[in-house]
Amino acid sequence: MALQQGNISIHAQNIMPIIKRWLYSDKDIFIRELVSNGCDAITKQKMLTPGGEEEYKVTVTVDEKAGEIRFSDNGIGMTADEVEKYINQVAFSGAEEFLKNYEGDDKGGIIGHFGLGFYSAFMVADQVTIETLSGSEGAAPVRWVSEDGMAFTMTEGSRTARGTDIILHISEEEKEFADEFRVRQVLNRYCGFMNTPVYLEVVKEEAPKAEVADGEEAPTIEVKEPERINPNAALWLKAPKDCTEDEYKQFYRDVFHTYEDPLFYVHLNVDYPFNLKGILYFPKLTNDFGTREGEIKLFSGQVFVADNIKEVIPEFLMLLKGVIDCPDLPLNVSRSFLQNDGYVKKLSAYITRKVADKLTGLFNTEREKYEGYWEDIHPFVKYGCMRDNKFFEQVKDTLLYKTTGGAHVTLSEYLSKNEGKLNGKKVIYTSDPTRQSANIAQYEAEGVDVAVMDALIDLNFVSFMEYSAGVEGLSFARVDADAATFQKEVSEDEKQQHQADEKVLADLFTAATGNNDLTVQLTALKDTSMPGMLVQDEQGRRFSEMGRIYGQDFKLPERYTLVLNAENAVVKSLIKQEEGEQRDLLAAQLYDLARMSTRPLEKEEITAFLSRSNKLLEMLCK
Ligand code: ADP
Ligand code: MG
Repeated sequence: MALQQGNISIHAQNIMPIIKRWLYSDKDIFIRELVSNGCDAITKQKMLTPGGEEEYKVTVTVDEKAGEIRFSDNGIGMTADEVEKYINQVAFSGAEEFLKNYEGDDKGGIIGHFGLGFYSAFMVADQVTIETLSGSEGAAPVRWVSEDGMAFTMTEGSRTARGTDIILHISEEEKEFADEFRVRQVLNRYCGFMNTPVYLEVVKEEAPKAEVADGEEAPTIEVKEPERINPNAALWLKAPKDCTEDEYKQFYRDVFHTYEDPLFYVHLNVDYPFNLKGILYFPKLTNDFGTREGEIKLFSGQVFVADNIKEVIPEFLMLLKGVIDCPDLPLNVSRSFLQNDGYVKKLSAYITRKVADKLTGLFNTEREKYEGYWEDIHPFVKYGCMRDNKFFEQVKDTLLYKTTGGAHVTLSEYLSKNEGKLNGKKVIYTSDPTRQSANIAQYEAEGVDVAVMDALIDLNFVSFMEYSAGVEGLSFARVDADAATFQKEVSEDEKQQHQADEKVLADLFTAATGNNDLTVQLTALKDTSMPGMLVQDEQGRRFSEMGRIYGQDFKLPERYTLVLNAENAVVKSLIKQEEGEQRDLLAAQLYDLARMSTRPLEKEEITAFLSRSNKLLEMLCK
């Protein structure tokens, strides 16, 4: 064919600089675009010759020395007319739209394909060559060369077999891409599940083995065995009924490079009203929720687009791991657009519903298994409930509370089991089973179950449940929040006597402990052996804990109430005792003992406690 020269499109001058600028942060996607073009060309060829025996593949060859990357496929190829039509003219048909969408938007906002796939090569290359031969009858090979994506030359090409080579000469500034490791890394990221075998081939030039005195020995060229980039099938495309447990687990290990097994998974598979395929895994979670991070890979027709696209996947689901493939997602728009897109919203709601279905399904049919998972999944489920009301509505009856006795109960099971033992609809919980063991034991003695709520998220979750659970009058109280459960019925006369004595004790304890913020309360408790307990108002405590977690500068004063037992011998004696050292020491000692049942004493407190104990023992032996 005769030499043909020309300019690609009247708009090219406007668009090339934009491509270069916009995609600055995502330059590596040129590899994805060129490989997926090769896969597309093969798909087209396969459709023309169904049942063919040919071994189809895309090979990416890196020649570090020459500074070249070659993308080779044995797909449909292009005739000169097709190059003219698909590369020279139509290339920018979507470009004007592209321009409209992105002008003014910030550059980090681009997610994926933008219909300029082939031209992304010019982000890194100072020369791009196409060598192509169409399979159509009588087609001649074509060579197309351009240095800037704006002017090109077309001549007769050299390809002898059907298919296409795209050869990039990498520019000086982008030299990092003419590198085996860099290219492998990008291929692994984007092309691991493409629908056609993809290979990486590396051309290495070895230095001559020995110096030869008279004349140079030619360097030997070594070509490494091509390496398959996408050995694993895209399991998410298989019908769920055809996938085995082992396949799901193996896929998880392959994709997330782990030896761990997932707990369970949800296979998403719909064609209508949208095309969505994917597998979401519930990972084993070991550390606390704040530091946990999932990973959800978004694909578009087996081509990787990006990780953790929060516009498509509800944020709380990001704690899961998995793959989502949505071929119809409008990825060539900005992220802010995706956020408000109705289609994306439906997609996201569907994913959430499927995850909720899985949880309720497990709860209803495999309760025991579900209970076993609870420790790992509860922070995720609770977080989801607080973030997404629909999700909460779906799973709220499957939320479990682990008790100190090791059982897992739902809220309604808890409430009905403990009915009559607590005043009102109350859940008693501990945020630290070890430190609060004394208080827990008190409740256990009353036959009341104590829920373990020791995750970071529980602090928020209890408040959330109080106003969202839809249970009238529901409240959560930590084991040290009040002594109501342990109180004994007393007569009106006794009550009045207690009030009078309470004043005496209040003066004594404030003086003996030096704590002016302390509230002292005298009441009759069922267990006569216990002199008293220190309680902290539930709401006030939550408030100051929140402040601590969210790093508030000011410290709220911690208000405690010392509940003294009017039925206890030591307390009774204190009321009657005359003023003096022994009385003060006893009061201080009771206070410390009460404190110790909720928290360990501080260093100086221990010293004081020990020396006071010794003194009291001495007095006892006088
Ligand atoms: P898209 O892939 O979205 O159509 P591209 O810019 O990536 O846009 O490619 C433009 C067109 O060029 C393709 O639609 C195809 O017709 C043609 N093309 C690109 N690469 C190849 C190839 N390796 N083999 C055959 N045709 C190709
Ligand atoms: Mg393309």
